[in-house]
Amino acid sequence: MTDFKTLGLAETVLRAVTAEGYDTPTPIQAKAIPPVLEGRDVVGIAQTGTGKTAAFVLPLLSRLAALGGTAKPKGTRILVLTPTRELAAQIHDAVRVYGKNVRPRSTVVVGGAKPGPQIRACAAGLDILVATPGRLLDHVGSGAIKLTDTAVVVLDEADQMLDLGFMPAVRRILAMTPKTRQTVLFSATMPTQIRALAEDFLADPVEIAVAPASTPIERIKQSVIKVPRAEKRDALAEILSDAAVQRAIVF
Ligand code: AMP
Repeated sequence: MTDFKTLGLAETVLRAVTAEGYDTPTPIQAKAIPPVLEGRDVVGIAQTGTGKTAAFVLPLLSRLAALGGTAKPKGTRILVLTPTRELAAQIHDAVRVYGKNVRPRSTVVVGGAKPGPQIRACAAGLDILVATPGRLLDHVGSGAIKLTDTAVVVLDEADQMLDLGFMPAVRRILAMTPKTRQTVLFSATMPTQIRALAEDFLADPVEIAVAPASTPIERIKQSVIKVPRAEKRDALAEILSDAAVQRAIVF
């Protein structure tokens, strides 16, 4: 079994991981960390609960530590795009926890919060910005944030961004970043629009897929009851009246 120590992470990052009590990477971490560390583009098919946040946060923090230097005013070296504020907050928490020794300059830019503090937080330049697409575009439009020096873009839960109608915004944002950037895309599913996005914006990506931690089907007991058509309703009523059936979906 892989150990975090064999993946090539920076020592500062490894110490933070150990402090969290983790020594064994999850499958998505074991597969994604080495290519992200190498600067490769990556497409990861993984759901929430697989440890996908650390799969990109750990190697990117490691690269920051190795690269040194600082971001230009209003710029960000790493941009993480997420569909929701809640996910943005979770990712930023992970950046704080795993980055406690690297101490990157980071912030969150999401809708539903006052723009003023967000603009001030970005003014001096950031190492990592976690953002939702709509609000980020507002700030880029007003000149408060520049993406011209961004070296890495992560698209997290790309299929959710598609479902929420963010695909035009995501494409506009990617087009504003340098062509030489590294792009990492995570999605639970791969609808054609996400495939097309990857084809248009990722260069020779490493593709990684992991099974979800626990698929719903494994938790559902299935059985078949054969009854004559005329008795179907009575059979159903009988099943539903069983005290053991507390919740049910009939379709
Ligand atoms: P995620 O899929 O990124 O939402 O992570 C799901 C949960 O797994 C989070 O609560 C993490 O703290 C936890 N986690 C991440 N990496 C590991 C690991 N290597 N071993 C055990 N738990 C982990």
